[in-house]
Amino acid sequence: MKRTAVRRRVARVLQKRASTSGATPNLRAEIVGTALRLSSSGLSPGRSGNVSMRIDNGMLITPTGIGAGELRPADIVEVRLDGRVAAGQRVASSEWRVHLGIYKARADVGAVVHTHSLNATALSCLHRSIPAFHYMIAEFGGDRVSCAPYATYGSDELARFAVKALGLREACLLANHGAVAVGESLRQAFERAGTLEALAAQYARALQIGRPRLLSSREMARVIEKFKTYGKQTEVKAKS
Ligand SMILES: [Zn+2]
Repeated sequence: MKRTAVRRRVARVLQKRASTSGATPNLRAEIVGTALRLSSSGLSPGRSGNVSMRIDNGMLITPTGIGAGELRPADIVEVRLDGRVAAGQRVASSEWRVHLGIYKARADVGAVVHTHSLNATALSCLHRSIPAFHYMIAEFGGDRVSCAPYATYGSDELARFAVKALGLREACLLANHGAVAVGESLRQAFERAGTLEALAAQYARALQIGRPRLLSSREMARVIEKFKTYGKQTEVKAKS
């Protein structure tokens, strides 16, 4: 991604965050709602999966060990950029280092969703990146979704591997573990987690049938360019 594009996105995220600062209760409720959707959509079986949003000087993240159905806004944990958690809060998700590492590395990211969704996780168990087998891979800002090497869950090493595999793209796989999707907003990160799972299912199916034929880097560059305006409604100005 070009530097100017990154700068524009950073400015958008900061603008949004500035308008929501002081609105932590709303952000907490949004995280609870997304955790519920993650669970009901089947993207995070059992108690797997966690969700976070950037706030000034840190992030809000789901706690460990509480099922989405029992989660309340007050259970959401505020973690500062230095990794500290104020007293009296729940224990943060075991993958808080992955989330925090991404916010530190990517100023344009406003939300992170981590899942153990079925097909993305199955591919991660083969240590397989998802190449440009379908043009929709461009949704993630490049010609592949990379798979980070294996590291123990909750470790600093896993956070480093995840940040590296993500690079400037919008998702990555974590070997023998699951997937991570990011976005400017929580809604965008959640939608990307769903898109990633659908693509992972299609790629896994194609691998069962034969050897998928991949799109060229040139074609993917063309699609990425088209995606910059794809699905955007042109504003219709009212006649005066
Ligand atoms: Zn996990």
